[in-house]
Amino acid sequence: MQSHTLKGKTALVTGSTSGIGLGIATALAEQGANIVLNGFGDAQQIAQLQSSLASQFDVQVIYHPADMSKAAEIEALMQVAALRFGMLDIVVNNAGIQHVANIEDFPVEKWDAILSINLSSAFHTSRLALPAMKAKNWGRIINIASAHGLVASAQKSAYVAAKHGLVGLTKVTALETAQTGVTCNAICPGWVLTPLVQQQVNARAEREGTTIDQAKRALLAEKQPSGEFVTPEQLGALAVFMCSEAASQVRGVAWNMDGGWVAQ
Ligand code: NAD
Repeated sequence: MQSHTLKGKTALVTGSTSGIGLGIATALAEQGANIVLNGFGDAQQIAQLQSSLASQFDVQVIYHPADMSKAAEIEALMQVAALRFGMLDIVVNNAGIQHVANIEDFPVEKWDAILSINLSSAFHTSRLALPAMKAKNWGRIINIASAHGLVASAQKSAYVAAKHGLVGLTKVTALETAQTGVTCNAICPGWVLTPLVQQQVNARAEREGTTIDQAKRALLAEKQPSGEFVTPEQLGALAVFMCSEAASQVRGVAWNMDGGWVAQ
């Protein structure tokens, strides 16, 4: 529902060219926030996305291609956003990748990439966004962690370590801003059917010689009691709530939206 609760504010959503990030960017734009898009993908499709969000919700939308594994590119992104909009009121740290392997087989460069994209990038955007947020005495930092920020699964050492780390970073940020109008919280999704998870579904179907549909059901049955995927739209609505005044004393939570995954 469009009610423009975020009119005049600007939100950066990292990794918003696809999946959950795109769902959250759309939900924030629907509330009137200007959007800084980021992530990889086809240049023409990204330009189309930028103009369709801008025209659908009557907001300003820019795109910056920073590789979130690189501190210097993150600094450039934050500078461009500040020049264009003055400051970022909302930062959603969402960019993330996955790799699945036993620890002894885990490629070292994949470990480094997952830690830098899924964890260190949130440190960089936060350290660069916080001074202006504190000066304005309003801000929202939302870290997209995972059910894997709360519990583990085998073969996901780097991802689980990064997401647990992100929940820890969320708590420290919340404490350091506790007496200000800035809040920091984490969202911990269960399975969401995005390209990141589709890859795991496809690998499972191939490994087990099943159909894609059977692999989806098996994936859900293993972890997610609801038997249904969480959607980017539902996660977008939770992010909008975290940006609301009603959520101004929600600080340092790791809010799972996971079909019951971590209740087990
Ligand atoms: P996705 O693959 O659909 O989207 C990932 C986004 O991150 C894309 O826009 C991609 O271009 C961007 N990205 C990847 N590497 C980048 C880099 N180096 N620099 C900048 N952008 C980069 O994945 P998704 O499922 O939407 O995942 C989004 C976030 O949600 C991730 O942090 C993921 O860990 C988390 N998450 C996903 C699920 C799920 O089931 N899909 C569950 C829990 C948490």
